[in-house]
Amino acid sequence: MLLEQIAEVVTELCHYCAKDYRARILVHEKDFNNSDIMKKFLSIIVLGLLWCNVGFASNDPVAGIVPWVYNFTASGKASDVWVNKNTTYIFTSDSPSTFKNLIFKKEKSVNNVSKKEKYSSSFKRKKLFRSFVFEAEYEDDISVELLIEYQKNKKNFEKAKKTAEYYSQMYGQMPHFLKKYNKKIYIHVNKGKDDGTWWVMMDKKEFHINTSRCGSHVSKVLYAHCALVMIHELAHVIDQLTGVISPSKWRKAKKLDNKKYCSKYSKKNNKEDFAESVVCWILVREKGYAIKSSDRGKIKKYIPNRLKFLDELKFNMYPL
Ligand SMILES: [Zn+2]
Repeated sequence: MLLEQIAEVVTELCHYCAKDYRARILVHEKDFNNSDIMKKFLSIIVLGLLWCNVGFASNDPVAGIVPWVYNFTASGKASDVWVNKNTTYIFTSDSPSTFKNLIFKKEKSVNNVSKKEKYSSSFKRKKLFRSFVFEAEYEDDISVELLIEYQKNKKNFEKAKKTAEYYSQMYGQMPHFLKKYNKKIYIHVNKGKDDGTWWVMMDKKEFHINTSRCGSHVSKVLYAHCALVMIHELAHVIDQLTGVISPSKWRKAKKLDNKKYCSKYSKKNNKEDFAESVVCWILVREKGYAIKSSDRGKIKKYIPNRLKFLDELKFNMYPL
């Protein structure tokens, strides 16, 4: 029992390695009544804590400091990026938008559309996607196709049109350079089973939306969250198929930033690092008033070379 309690304390002290360390302590529980118990036990504690310190140091240039600013740039958690303490929202439904018109085109069924119900789901699940297709028009000769899914025998054109209007307006708030290359938005019907995840198909200029966390029903906080997720997905589109971003130059900038990241999620791979860094870049360059000044400072300090890389591309940011 005592060992169990000490293991809990060590778990608190040593977040990163607690699981393994806790297992090691408990393995030794049956030895507790043998001779030299305290010596043995204390040596495990000391070695364990030393090991934790080594773990922190190797993970982070400055031991004990988390080398990223956010967990995920649009996680929707209270402490996260989308809102500062004065509740200045990064995006609201009234933010400037270049959206002009929405035109209904046709009904269309598309075979083999990937469906990701949850963040952890694979892309293997395919379905027949029955949809109303709309075209949204924007300033500067930009347009995008929105495919609004409906369930068989549950067609509702007016509802689909409202959904299309909502996302067309939000899309118009995206900077010009992110709208320029994307062609389609698939909006999947909400059957109450998904976790609200959005995704990009790596070989197409399109992205996919599960609407359960976004839509006209959501709070201001969630609206800002959804707009930031839209930036993240569009950053994937520009990164992978347009030739605008040089992978080698990006990797070089990332290396110069010396194991510091915009978010913990950036660490997943180079693609997520790029998408998350674009969000942070837009936050500091265009939305600095809406995030905490300490976060602004951290982003500039942690990823200066990635920010410089994006600055030098001289993207058209209108209407931000
Ligand atoms: Zn992503």
